[in-house]
Amino acid sequence: MGIEGGLVVLKSKMGRGCDREAKDRVLKRGKNTVPDLSLYRFYLLKENGLPHSAELRSSIWKQMKDAGIKFIPSNTFSYYDQVLDTTAMLGAVPPRYGWNGGEIEFGTYFSMARGNASVPAMEMTKWFDTNYHFIVPELGPEVKFSYSSHKAVQEYKEAKALGVETVPVLVGPVSYLLLSKPAKGVEKSFSLLSLLDKILPIYKEVIAELKAAGASWIQFDEPTLVKDLESHQLQAFTSAYSALESSLSGLNVIIETYFADVPAAAFKTLTSLKGVTGFGFDLVRGAQTLDLIKGGFPSGKYLFAGVVDGRNIWANDFASSLSILGSLEGIVGKDKLVVSTSCSLLHTAVDLVNEPKLDKELKSWMAFAAQKVVEVNALAKALTGHKDEAFFSANAAAHASRKSSPRVTNEAVQKAAAALKGSDHRRATNVSARLDAQQKKLNLPILPTTTIGSFPQTMELRKVRREYKAKKISEEEYIKAIKEEINKVVKLQEELDIDVLVHGEPERNDMVEYFGEQLSGFAFSANGWVQSYGSRCVKPPIIYGDVSRPKPMTVFWSSMAQSMTARPMKGMLTGPVTILNWSFVRNDQPRFETCYQIALAIKEEVEDLEKAGINVIQIDEAALREGLPLRKSEEAFYLDWAVHSFRITNCGVSDTCQIHTHMCYSNFNDIIHSIIDMDADVITIENSRSDEKLLSVFREGVKYGAGIGPGVYDIHSPRIPSTDEIADRINKMLQVLETNILWVNPDCGLKTRKYAEVNPALQNMVAAAKLIRTQL
Ligand code: GLN
Ligand code: ZN
Repeated sequence: MGIEGGLVVLKSKMGRGCDREAKDRVLKRGKNTVPDLSLYRFYLLKENGLPHSAELRSSIWKQMKDAGIKFIPSNTFSYYDQVLDTTAMLGAVPPRYGWNGGEIEFGTYFSMARGNASVPAMEMTKWFDTNYHFIVPELGPEVKFSYSSHKAVQEYKEAKALGVETVPVLVGPVSYLLLSKPAKGVEKSFSLLSLLDKILPIYKEVIAELKAAGASWIQFDEPTLVKDLESHQLQAFTSAYSALESSLSGLNVIIETYFADVPAAAFKTLTSLKGVTGFGFDLVRGAQTLDLIKGGFPSGKYLFAGVVDGRNIWANDFASSLSILGSLEGIVGKDKLVVSTSCSLLHTAVDLVNEPKLDKELKSWMAFAAQKVVEVNALAKALTGHKDEAFFSANAAAHASRKSSPRVTNEAVQKAAAALKGSDHRRATNVSARLDAQQKKLNLPILPTTTIGSFPQTMELRKVRREYKAKKISEEEYIKAIKEEINKVVKLQEELDIDVLVHGEPERNDMVEYFGEQLSGFAFSANGWVQSYGSRCVKPPIIYGDVSRPKPMTVFWSSMAQSMTARPMKGMLTGPVTILNWSFVRNDQPRFETCYQIALAIKEEVEDLEKAGINVIQIDEAALREGLPLRKSEEAFYLDWAVHSFRITNCGVSDTCQIHTHMCYSNFNDIIHSIIDMDADVITIENSRSDEKLLSVFREGVKYGAGIGPGVYDIHSPRIPSTDEIADRINKMLQVLETNILWVNPDCGLKTRKYAEVNPALQNMVAAAKLIRTQL
């Protein structure tokens, strides 16, 4: 039995003496907190030699050992992320961080991750289709690689000293290069894979040191194998592992893949690699993997069968896993089959023990990381004839109860969602006619100004929401406080002379949680945190049942806000795809079915808002792009149901009701046709870093007739943009977009900013719009 990759922190011990920033983060998260790994930086530095991060690692290793896990990974702990750790191991620090060689210390490491006073951080991007991020290596022909972080070896030794034999895990050399980007100034056409010859010597040094320390197994994570790779990229795997073969002799080697099945050609390459002892596959997301293995698995090799899902919070279905494992046993042999999680447990919540508020029934359907470890062991024991009958029957009973529970199934919702499939839903009138009708009603100036929704979330606001939740203040007091805040935000926008207003979202903690809490079919953990990047974690809602909307969710606040002003007030909703992509989703029906159900609930809300006199409604789809599947062949299907779900929410409104949507990440050139197909009247998009990239799509002749507001300044930075600078950007946009469709707005919500930044920035933004209006 094995656990793939890292198990997240099971206990985090909070010490004294951490700095304010760290302490605040601890307080925010409550007692049983998340893997706030960066906190340990402070502990290590400030608590004279008390190795708190080591305590954390040891508690995880011991927990796995106690659970009976045989293949326990090490080098899965990270102060930031595993790719950055590999960059440190290879000494591939970009010159601007001023590193002068030697073992990479925290200063350089965290400068790359977070930036420092003089140099910004390196680019961060998502780790495949998870919400975990990594720092993108910047490589070029000039990089001098040197063995500069001995972390993998140190952690292996650390575990050994505790009496735990581990499998050190390294990001594989080919995946590392494929996840890198050419450094600034290096030609885009530079072949990153040409650096293989330069990084393999460092890998060899690490391997030699691990061997000398007594390691008998080593794991390389090569998850890029699940993507669409070209033959020269596949060839790189063959070359790399042939080159490593002699160094690896005497070691057992596992190559791990996860998050999808491996395409047939890659499977062939992978299973033909020299010097490899075992292969790991994701049998949960890998729809074809089983067939591939059945079609031919090299004899005498180990198969690490990822049957326990590392990406969700549901209890394993033991009966189904056993049957899969049984059939695999017939292929690879009893002694070569290893039960494993499908991927690192970093992507799931930590421990159900920390959830006193989830009811017993729901909990019986779930397994967080700590429970998944136990599941892996139970399955492995069952295969060797030591089945824990009581545990297995409890698992079967839990599955039966989940299947038949009225909390899960709502016939009416099922029927309504089923009726949506195969049919199309769109507004009857085309977008330009709708925009004309809306303009008659709204009477907006050209280059209308607006914001994305949220206004600064002050400490006082958070306190009000917290106290209301804890029933420390009455409903009347709460409404009064929020109403005052909305009034303040409305007045401010009127003073700034913004054209389409927002209420500022003061009643919302989070754009998904706020809706989830009011929809049926959702549950919320108290401590189910999952690391997103660095010390930032998210607590995804859990969708366990058919989704419906018992009553209106935003109408009260939106109509209150509209009543305070004669200007149009935007209703503000989160779209179905974003709610889906930012939640732990049920695994007993396809994702699109759950998405359609959420779409129907949001549709009811949209229609109620319209009835209440709200003429502009924004439906945020911040996360639409990030749900894209890992393989091209699956993109069209996803985009089809995702875009359809969005259209369902607003197909029922009249022509004069203006539907906005907002998307984060400007990188959407490749899905521009799907975005047009969303058929929103106005789209506002994040565009902070590069006008060029976004605008090039229109320059290349894509016809875009709906309203569009590419963000005119970056809200992620405290910097206040000048009027000239904003005017410049608007002018650039006008070179490729018609005057009558361009909107002027920041690139995302303002909740993370301070009023001292927001006021002057918006002032300059409105001034820039007015300036250009006079020049047209
Ligand atoms: N309406 C949300 C806000 O303004 C949108 C946030 C987002 O796109 N991430 O905060
Ligand atoms: Zn955004």
